[in-house]
Amino acid sequence: PLLISQIAAGEVIERPASVLKELVENSLDAGARNIVVLLEEGGVRRIQVEDDGHGIHPDDLSLALQAHATSKLAATDPLNHIVTLGFRGEALASMAAVARVTVTARVAEAVHALTMTVSGGQVEGPRPAARSIGCSVVVEDLFSHTPARRKFLRSTSTEFGHCDELLRRLALAHPEVTFRLSHQGRALRHWPALTLEARVRGILGEDFLNQSLPIEDSAGPLHLSGWILHPTAASRAEQYLFVNGRFVRDRLLTQAVRQAYQDVLHGQRQPGGVLFLSLDPARVDVNVHPAKTEVRFEEGQAVFRFVWQALHKTLTRTTP
Ligand code: ADP
Ligand code: MG
Repeated sequence: PLLISQIAAGEVIERPASVLKELVENSLDAGARNIVVLLEEGGVRRIQVEDDGHGIHPDDLSLALQAHATSKLAATDPLNHIVTLGFRGEALASMAAVARVTVTARVAEAVHALTMTVSGGQVEGPRPAARSIGCSVVVEDLFSHTPARRKFLRSTSTEFGHCDELLRRLALAHPEVTFRLSHQGRALRHWPALTLEARVRGILGEDFLNQSLPIEDSAGPLHLSGWILHPTAASRAEQYLFVNGRFVRDRLLTQAVRQAYQDVLHGQRQPGGVLFLSLDPARVDVNVHPAKTEVRFEEGQAVFRFVWQALHKTLTRTTP
């Protein structure tokens, strides 16, 4: 079973950033308002995520580390109406197959926390521990027992870069949550819970906002908001696209944005910006692959036209 879970883990866990994504999404699902991330050696040596969410009930702690144990299916009816970020119940179990995982959690009604470690099929605990309400997960020595996977890892700075970027995306989608990130004991990011605009400023910089056009448009159930870089902006910014609050990479959306820039400006330009698209969750599949960022729209053409139009309007309004 360990080998099988190690293979299954490869589906979800490619590198430290994939672990971090699952852990932070769990914290967000748990209603955390503060999320602290501590990394060592780009996360390969250690990834620690601490939150002040609702924690894990003592009866559920060992379950949480087992495959297909999720507390989140009950809250959803058909699978395409998933509201929480996770639904597969395999992330922690997969991590435990390829790393040493320690979960320490406390719920409001408990007098103390419980901690439990799983590593290579060996279980320690649960035993009492000290911690405030919430959950901490520590993932150590990723892929140390699976050298074939470990050799795909890159340098500390590259792996850290992926983690940092992942956290940016999650932080842009959740301005209501405070995020902190440390690497090798150095505090590098602190994004306090504020407005979306302040979060964008904190992450992309004042320059980005100064050189951007706000965008806000609706058509029936489709809604688009955010900031796109002004056509004349000197700086280049990355493109962050979110669908129903989730970061996505989607050719259709990217193409709609590029097309609008091209049609208005007649130039080749890869426009930067932060865009939030929302639509009826039943009309988009955000779970094409658990670890990937693809989406599938039921009415792709309508989405394309809407996004293209919204950008086109904004760009023509401000371009002589
Ligand atoms: P999923 O998120 O798909 O349910 P996971 O393997 O990521 O599966 O987590 C298993 C379960 O552990 C979750 O359903 C949840 O009940 C619990 N859990 C994990 N992380 C946290 C957390 N930070 N706070 C509260 N509960 C958590
Ligand atoms: Mg999860």
